[in-house]
Amino acid sequence: MIVSKRDYYEVLGVSRESGEAEIKSAYRRLALQYHPDRNQSNPEAEEKFKEASEAYGVLSDADKRARYDQFGHAGVNGQGAEAGDFADMFSSIFGDFFNLDPFSGQRHRRGGARAGADLKLDLRLSFEESLQGVEKNLEFRHQVACADCKGRGTLHGAAPSTCEQCGGAGQVRASQGFFTVARTCPICRGAGRIIREACPQCRGQGRLSQPVRRKVQIPAGVGDGAQLRISGEGDAGPEGGPAGDLYVVLAVEPHPFFERQDDDLYCAIGLSFPQAALGCELEVPTPWGTEKIKVPAGIQPGAQLPPLRGKGVPRLQGRGRGDLHVLVHVEVPTRLNSEQRHLLQRLGELMPHDNRPHRKS
Ligand SMILES: [Zn+2]
Ligand SMILES: [Zn+2]
Repeated sequence: MIVSKRDYYEVLGVSRESGEAEIKSAYRRLALQYHPDRNQSNPEAEEKFKEASEAYGVLSDADKRARYDQFGHAGVNGQGAEAGDFADMFSSIFGDFFNLDPFSGQRHRRGGARAGADLKLDLRLSFEESLQGVEKNLEFRHQVACADCKGRGTLHGAAPSTCEQCGGAGQVRASQGFFTVARTCPICRGAGRIIREACPQCRGQGRLSQPVRRKVQIPAGVGDGAQLRISGEGDAGPEGGPAGDLYVVLAVEPHPFFERQDDDLYCAIGLSFPQAALGCELEVPTPWGTEKIKVPAGIQPGAQLPPLRGKGVPRLQGRGRGDLHVLVHVEVPTRLNSEQRHLLQRLGELMPHDNRPHRKS
């Protein structure tokens, strides 16, 4: 289904002659109305919010707006703002009004302190560990707030001084002909504050990289590629911001004969021709101990034995375990001693066989 894009002016409900301020206030109104914070699990609102943001991303940029006016959507295709630009644009209008950054889904900075980065750690598990659950030791490094300066980066944690160049605004204004252009303050690089004497412990960074050893309990039944989130074990935020999370990404080693599919396991077991023809009793290994199975006489290659209920994978959500399915392979002997050969020849004579092609079923 091709949905034609709505006209950006129409989306924001403004005219083609509207000025910057009018476009901004139109977007502000729509964004407040449709923001995900106020419309939880409402895909329609989310669409409207995205649409309005995209329109504003183009119409608030003089260059993009001119291109759009001349060429329509084709003029700005693929030139729309990136998620990061959107986030900047959004916070420049709303500041920290909302809890959630609608574009990255990340927590918003509180009181100017940004959250630290999330970390990712790979962890290998044996097949058995993934089925039975296991306690593992994690070793990694993360950034923690410097204790000497309480994360401020200043000597003994003194309050940083306001940047004199920009008066703490982080931006300076310069006249260029008729226009006044705002740009990031070159002295404080936009921070608005200056550290005069840096904390020697963290060299003014406010954070230090620290090794961590930590135990983690892996629940029984986790699958390959599953992620565990350990909240607050990521990097500490700059300037005392909340820590990010640690994601442990699990890689489960394959098993030599069990194959997993959802909560069920599959394995194949080889039978000799006499076992298949006469039936037998087998001992089948399962991850939960060996099980005896009765194989009926005359079982065919590729047949499935009745599933072993509850001998599969523990259900992560819910109770009990999946099943173990056993497939039958009938193996043809490749080395025979003279007695075996003789008996098989005798059997062949007693079992004349019609070798016509099988009828397609
Ligand atoms: Zn400054
Ligand atoms: Zn420090």
